[in-house]
Amino acid sequence: MNFDFYYMCVFCQIIKKQINSEIVYEDEKMMVIKDINPKAPVHLLLFPKRHIESLVTLRLKDRLLIEGLIWKAKSLAEEQGFASNGYKLVLNCGQGAGQVVPHLHLHLLSGADFSKWPV
Ligand code: 5GP
Ligand code: ZN
Repeated sequence: MNFDFYYMCVFCQIIKKQINSEIVYEDEKMMVIKDINPKAPVHLLLFPKRHIESLVTLRLKDRLLIEGLIWKAKSLAEEQGFASNGYKLVLNCGQGAGQVVPHLHLHLLSGADFSKWPV
């Protein structure tokens, strides 16, 4: 097998430290980084270390991963002091919803004027 042609998604490369990123939190199961192209003053990405493509393909047995990501987002918002200002969680599910990176991830956004956002 020629590994030159092996495709690894960008978040898997970040997990393996093959690509640099600003890491906010990391444990054996998940990673939190700053988005490279932030859409709000706070824009973090939370994702499992296991490569799971999308919520669309997530299996029932892995559903607690989602709970872990949401709970971590809540904890970070409190620890970093922006929970009281409000924050938005976005989970793009599939290309049709704007998911570009094919590795399940949760956006945590805060500090923007969200009144202009569609939802
Ligand atoms: P999606 O549209 O798939 O829900 O969101 C993917 C997000 O990943 C985008 O907001 C994009 O800016 C971010 N992103 C893509 N490549 C990189 C990267 O190499 N490093 C970091 N930190 N963020 C990235
Ligand atoms: Zn991946």
